[in-house]
Amino acid sequence: MSNTSQPNKEAPQPLLKEVAGIYTAPPAHWVGNGFHVRSMFSYADAFQGSDPFVLLDYAAEEQFSPNPGAPRGVGPHPHKGFETVTIAYQGEVAHRDSSGGGGTIQTGDVQWMTAGRGIVHDEFHSREFSEKGGLFEMVQLWVNLPAKDKETPAAYQPIRKEEIPVLVLPDDAGSVRLIAGSYQGEQGPAKTFTEMNVWDVVLHANASTVFTLPATHNLSLAILRGEVRINEGENAQAGALVRFQMGGETLELQAGENGATILLLSGVPLNEPVVGYGPFVMNSMDEIRQAFADYERGKFGNLA
Ligand code: MN
Repeated sequence: MSNTSQPNKEAPQPLLKEVAGIYTAPPAHWVGNGFHVRSMFSYADAFQGSDPFVLLDYAAEEQFSPNPGAPRGVGPHPHKGFETVTIAYQGEVAHRDSSGGGGTIQTGDVQWMTAGRGIVHDEFHSREFSEKGGLFEMVQLWVNLPAKDKETPAAYQPIRKEEIPVLVLPDDAGSVRLIAGSYQGEQGPAKTFTEMNVWDVVLHANASTVFTLPATHNLSLAILRGEVRINEGENAQAGALVRFQMGGETLELQAGENGATILLLSGVPLNEPVVGYGPFVMNSMDEIRQAFADYERGKFGNLA
């Protein structure tokens, strides 16, 4: 990167990551009978500025009554061409898939599932959670795969809370749970196909912090709780998605009086066509049609 307008012999100041837009998520809708989510962005948006991330559903904190014997959730359905990342903020999610993956994630855990060339799975509140009921809060993020990796075999990474580094921010401003990517010389546990950061950021009341991120990363912030002021400018509240222009390296965040919980997503954009339809994210409509045909023929396997 060269900038001919920089004066000689002076160290260039790192540029801010500039806000491109702040979007408010629509009201919540139900996915199956278990996940009451706001779609903070999706591949269906006219502006696909979160590349390589293609969808984010947030189920805000909600109390569920006990429902023993009939866990709430979503029955068997397919995916192809991307990865689903489920972050359990509160409550428990059980999952089974046709590649033999499965298990229960509990509060603080993350499930990183690679749909790749095709998978069938189901997603329910765990039996234990359903017996007792309780508070449930969850994110599901869809991470696109590059065209060359869309036919990769399906896979499943269970990531336990204990494996996720928790980094304390300078001046005790809050913390970063490093799910994927790197920060302060630490590496998150998720194995990813392309370079990205997925950080669960908590800022304490009125605290501020400055992050340095690669200029090559496309940046989006999902504000899950509280309120945050960005680069000493605009405020974004819970339910907002903040998108940034490409370029720049620094980001300043200041939490409001109730603090803030933010999912920070940054990554090198794939810059490939994104054609999403229902549970599939491919590069062309022909590939979408092929995915439906392959699923109907049983090529994605079955749940045991
Ligand atoms: Mn699914």
